Amino acid sequence: MTDTKVYFLDGGSLVLDGYHIFWNRGPGGEVRFPSYSILIEHAEGRFMIDTGYDYDHVMKVLPFEKPIQTKDQTMPGALKLIGLEPNDIDVVFNTHFHFDHCGGNKYFPYARKVCHRLEVPQACNPAPFEHLGYSDLSFSVEAAEARGLTDQLLPDATAANTAFEGVEGDFEIAKGVHMLFAPGHAVGNYAVMIELAHRRPMMLVLDAAYTRRSLETLCQSSFHIDPVKGIESMRRIKAYAEDHDAELFFSHDMESFETYRTGTQFYS
Ligand SMILES: [Zn+2]
Repeated sequence: MTDTKVYFLDGGSLVLDGYHIFWNRGPGGEVRFPSYSILIEHAEGRFMIDTGYDYDHVMKVLPFEKPIQTKDQTMPGALKLIGLEPNDIDVVFNTHFHFDHCGGNKYFPYARKVCHRLEVPQACNPAPFEHLGYSDLSFSVEAAEARGLTDQLLPDATAANTAFEGVEGDFEIAKGVHMLFAPGHAVGNYAVMIELAHRRPMMLVLDAAYTRRSLETLCQSSFHIDPVKGIESMRRIKAYAEDHDAELFFSHDMESFETYRTGTQFYS
C-alpha cells in the first residue's frame, strides 16, 4: 500500500489587474499570480488535476497577461523534474476549461479525461464575456471544430483521444480524492479535497476563490458565469473544509504559493 502523494507542478505566472482578481473591489494595478497543476500519485493511478497554460497561446491571444514560464514550468518540463513524462499519467481531470487550466492537455493523448458534463459544451459555445477564458481549444477536437480554431490542435489530436467523460455533482475520483462541484466561476467548476496519510486533508480551492483574501471576503474574480452561485460555492467549500479540518490551498495567490512545496517536494 503506497501512500498518496500530491505534487504541485509550477506552471509559471501571469498578470491581471487587481480589479479582475478582486471583482469590483480591487485595488487596481498589476498583480502577478501563479498558475500550477496538481499531480496525485495514488494507489489507483496517477491523476493530473488541470494542466496549466500554454506560453505561445497566451503570447498570441492574451499577451497583456505577460506570461513568465521557464522550460521547467511547461507541462513536460515540470513532469521531467519529478522523473515522469506525459504518458505516465493515467487520468486528466480539468476543473474547468479556462486557458490557464487546460493548456497542457494536448500532451496527454493516452490519458482518460474527465470533466463536468457541461464544460465541453460551454467551451464550444461560451458566453460573449467568456471568450478569452475559453480561448485555448487545443484540449478538444470537438471544441476546436465548433469554434473554427482547429489550427490550435496538435497533429496527433483526434476526436477519440480528446474525448471527455462527463460527470456531475460531487464524487470520488479515487479513494480519498473528493471532487466538489463548485459552479459560478465556470459552469462546471470543481474544487478538490484530498485525504492523506500523514497530514490534514488538503482542500484545493482552485478557481472557486483565487486567493486566501478572496475566500475570506467572499470576493470572486471578475471571470465567472454566475456570481451568485460563485458565492454559494465559496461558502460551501469553506464549510466543507472546516468540517473536515482541511488545510486550504489557493490557485492564484502568489503570497500563499511561495510557501507551497513544488518541484520534487510533495505532500503525503
Ligand atoms: Zn485559473
